Amino acid sequence: MYPISTIAEVLNARSVLAEPGTAIEHLLTDSRRLVMAAATLFFGIETSRRNGSDFVSELYAAGVRNFVVKNEFDPSPFPLANFVYVDDPLVALQQLVAWHRRHFNLPVIGITGSNGKTIVKEWLYQLLYADQNIVRSPKSFNSQVGVPLSVWQLNEQHTLAIFEAGISMPGEMSVLENIIKPTIGVLTNIGEAHGANFASKQEKLQEKFQLFAGAKMIACNNGDALIENYLHEHQEANVFTWGYKGKDLRLLSVEKKGNQSLLVAEYKNAEVSITIPFSDNASIENAISCWCILLLMGVPNEVISRRMQLLQPVEMRLQMKRGINNCSIINDSYSNDISSLNIALDFLQQQAGKQKATVILSDLGESGHAVKQYSKVAAALLRYKIDKFVGIGNDLCSFESLFSGLPDRHFFRSVEEFKQQLPLITFRDEVILVKGARVFEFEQIGSLFEQQVHQTVMEVNLSAMVNNLKQFHQYLKPTTKVMAMVKAFSYGSGSAEVASVLQYHKVDYLAVAYADEGVELRKAGIHMPVMVMNPEDVTFPVLLQYNLEPEMYSLDLLNSFCSYVEKQGVEQVGIHIKLDTGMHRLGFEHEDVEELLAYLQAHKTLVVKSVFSHLVGSEEQEHDAFTQYQGKTFNGFVQRLKQVIDYPFITHISNSAAIFRHPNMQYDMVRLGIGLYGIDTSASNVLQLQPVATLRTTISQIRKVKAGESVGYSRKGMLQKDATIATIRIGYADGFRRKLGNGNGKVFLKGATAPVVGNVCMDMTMIDVSDIEDVKEGDAVEIFGPNLPVEQLAKWCETIPYEIMTNISLRVKRVYYEE
Ligand SMILES: *Cc1c(COP(=O)(O)O)cnc(C)c1O
Repeated sequence: MYPISTIAEVLNARSVLAEPGTAIEHLLTDSRRLVMAAATLFFGIETSRRNGSDFVSELYAAGVRNFVVKNEFDPSPFPLANFVYVDDPLVALQQLVAWHRRHFNLPVIGITGSNGKTIVKEWLYQLLYADQNIVRSPKSFNSQVGVPLSVWQLNEQHTLAIFEAGISMPGEMSVLENIIKPTIGVLTNIGEAHGANFASKQEKLQEKFQLFAGAKMIACNNGDALIENYLHEHQEANVFTWGYKGKDLRLLSVEKKGNQSLLVAEYKNAEVSITIPFSDNASIENAISCWCILLLMGVPNEVISRRMQLLQPVEMRLQMKRGINNCSIINDSYSNDISSLNIALDFLQQQAGKQKATVILSDLGESGHAVKQYSKVAAALLRYKIDKFVGIGNDLCSFESLFSGLPDRHFFRSVEEFKQQLPLITFRDEVILVKGARVFEFEQIGSLFEQQVHQTVMEVNLSAMVNNLKQFHQYLKPTTKVMAMVKAFSYGSGSAEVASVLQYHKVDYLAVAYADEGVELRKAGIHMPVMVMNPEDVTFPVLLQYNLEPEMYSLDLLNSFCSYVEKQGVEQVGIHIKLDTGMHRLGFEHEDVEELLAYLQAHKTLVVKSVFSHLVGSEEQEHDAFTQYQGKTFNGFVQRLKQVIDYPFITHISNSAAIFRHPNMQYDMVRLGIGLYGIDTSASNVLQLQPVATLRTTISQIRKVKAGESVGYSRKGMLQKDATIATIRIGYADGFRRKLGNGNGKVFLKGATAPVVGNVCMDMTMIDVSDIEDVKEGDAVEIFGPNLPVEQLAKWCETIPYEIMTNISLRVKRVYYEE
């Protein structure tokens, strides 16, 4: 696209260019997302945790030759690279893309608001892609970094652009406006909260409107008093208002029928209407925002009403499920185009590790230059080193030759044809991405591979986990390392899947309780350091074979491990020294220390990677004095060890609650456990943790039962009045504790809670849904999750969240997704 020398000029920056003519096509801000080294320009953006330029050497080794770095960066180790020097690489990225944007003269829709941005963007795409060649933000790329990366995709072929913009701080929107330069604006729902960084909702609204500084037209709902006020005060002339008070599209009625809504409005003195296949208020609002834009663009009414009826839900999640033959299935029903393909391939690569990566893809739903499109698809599959490819559709069949570089490939005209041939292709031990435009009905393929199990599932939100990790990062010094505790099947959430995400996000260490848990991680392609807390003699061979680092907690253990290792002729092996500072569970005590040191001096085979201890009550204020005492004791131990061990080792003592409650005890590393899974044991209210796991089941039967009758075993559930009783598909064998029976516990459905009636059975439970309207067989029921915190369930069971989470039976299927 542009030579690096031009880019340096545009940025008005000093540069040292080994190859000034190098053409730049891709911009990269996250080293993990590198796909094509040759034409990539990396921006070393600084964040609170990392200095972007720390990744230069890793990227240089991977073949990247173009870097935008801060002025002080030393280029000497990288003689073949081009360097552009700036004060702030983020600002440089924004400047470059703002300049790129100026090359194009086309309608650009800019969307902002608190809720619904991504839906409106995707729906506008669904409504307009038949007539336009559209470029749009991938997923919800709407931040200070996401917007420039989105707008960079713009090229001569596009006839319409749709970008979303999100802000979290004052001053951010004018930067985004300068990059997007919308010609048409859409303000979606502005929500209730103004967020921590804005003094008021008004201030936030003012900031949002800055996106529309140069727009010829802005669509918004003036039903909100705040917006109406704002429009009045600022005398915004070029506003297209909608709603019951709308001046341009005046809503007359909204009629909901089942899952559909009929919307009638007045537009230019005539009655117009649309029907959409949704009935919730948010969808209705989002559809009207889209309606306004279509009217503004002059799309005929009959076309609008035809296309509105076909709106599809926007499924933003990438879901992964366990499938047959030890396969995992990532089902992506998000629209099928190049940018969403890249995102899905990224997730596939992250999850596949060393396993085989397979892609089953339908024809793209895109208009535009077909050869070019499919060449890009082929290039992406090659870059991500896809092991097996199945292409379904007439276009993919006719462009088969473009895919000849892939090792194992199959092409079919239709899903039917694929299903007929399926017995001839085996799928085993692989991670399969199933990605298809909706017309191809790829759900059929998903269900071919998925395991049939009963309908109780635990959904694991991997994005929430990443959010939680970042929340804790805010309380850590930039140099503090993180060891993530993935023992006990990652607190019930699933080992390999969770570990893959943590590895991707550059956590420093993992810890498991037993060696076999570590082996499972290695088999799934986890290559980062793993500590094993309970090594037994019989596991020594696998510890060595799989490069797992054992915790040493006694002289006996140390001696038997060391003897084994020396007998094997191994040169060096990493160990972790556990000290007892008050837990009295495992660990060396004071009187062992001199002997321990002498042993380590005499056996240089053993390399101490870290020295640690464990706190007994870091979450409880009443134990704060004891916690500090443990810290002091630990200091004493560490000082003595440092006198004798003459190489650096990591020290650590904090668990989740201590990170926040005892910041003076961070040492070199912290061990993050339950907080990662969204439980705030310190009840801080400062950490914004999101629940990671949601346990759901479904209703199998509903019946009316008369007063005086009983429900369930031993006639414990005596009914005082007539009741509607629903049976749900979960029991104590799944981890739904018997303690929850007889009204002690409740479940959540349809916005309300329903108490458990009678005793909990092994595989089923009865609940009283008399007070909840419209309950049907097959309805979903939440056992714990966003609406019913696991903490609450723990209280009902008189236990702690740890026990609830780790007791969910393995027969409950885990489903993983990223948002
Ligand atoms: C489980 C465990 C942790 C994590 O504790 P959380 O309270 O879940 O953060 C830390 N250290 C050790 C030794 C553990 O066993």
